Amino acid sequence: MKKVGFIGLGIMGKPMAINLIDAGYNLNILDSNKAAGDLTPKGATAFSTCKEVAANSEIIITMLPDSPEVNEVVFGDTGVLAGIKSGSVFVDMSTIAPSTAREVAEAMLLKGVDALDAPVSGGQVGAETGNLSIMVGGNQAAFDALKPLFDVMGKSAVLIGDAGAGQLTKACNQMIVGMTIQAVAESFTLAKKAGVNLEKMREALLGGFAQSRILDLHGQRIIDRNFDPGFKLKLHRKDMNIALMAGKEFKVPLYGSALVASHMDAALAAGWDEKDHSALALLMEKLSNV
Ligand code: NAD
Repeated sequence: MKKVGFIGLGIMGKPMAINLIDAGYNLNILDSNKAAGDLTPKGATAFSTCKEVAANSEIIITMLPDSPEVNEVVFGDTGVLAGIKSGSVFVDMSTIAPSTAREVAEAMLLKGVDALDAPVSGGQVGAETGNLSIMVGGNQAAFDALKPLFDVMGKSAVLIGDAGAGQLTKACNQMIVGMTIQAVAESFTLAKKAGVNLEKMREALLGGFAQSRILDLHGQRIIDRNFDPGFKLKLHRKDMNIALMAGKEFKVPLYGSALVASHMDAALAAGWDEKDHSALALLMEKLSNV
């Protein structure tokens, strides 16, 4: 079995790494927060620099918060690039800017390394149960080399295009999710203020063209008043920014996404950073005096 480096063992990275260990892979691990995800009792080997993780691994996976952290881990003095061997494969599974993913891929290529951007959808539960949806940018050979690992971590992995295509797809995913949550939040707020039974409305809508997992899950959250994360509002706001920057780069006006991002800003200003992104409904209710 190939040696796998895994950097970033937070809410998502830790269960993904555990699934790889349970599938028989030898893991070299690192997280800047020593308390996060210590998997040495499960047989993983911990290193103190990303350079060492890379030097001792044939596949290196990162699962970090955002572009600045990926840049630090890859390009830092003791970063992955300083240690990685020609012929290795580098896979970033964080949600970051497509432009950063392309820069990382170009730098890796100069070292004789194939890079994939492979962000995921499916949340903590998807990570724990190995049911993530994985959106991949890069070349076919690297994708084929990683497919057995993707099959351990996810239920679907699709090679979408060249470097950055996975991240662009994830940005589109987050636009659709964000705008759909806003649609559900507005609908439920209107219905609540008009005195319509929300449980009956959810049931009726789930049988029609408005059916969606977001209507199903977040509609139920609104009914249950459950705004514990889930996916934190502040992380979704980060993703909307990635989408808006991509819109700027490619000169596509993203009207709906810009509105939802502003709505998220108002929710963050209300102090709801750590709440689930379904808390957009709370803001609608506040604005509507419901
Ligand atoms: P997290 O904050 O729980 O985990 C990130 C980990 O990276 C932390 O343990 C942190 O200590 C570590 N880290 C940060 N900087 C580092 C560095 N320089 N070197 C080494 N380790 C470092 O975040 P998460 O929820 O696991 O999300 C990770 C990524 O996955 C994000 O891009 C997020 O948008 C995306 N994502 C999250 C979810 C979700 O539901 N949580 C779902 C899909 C995608």
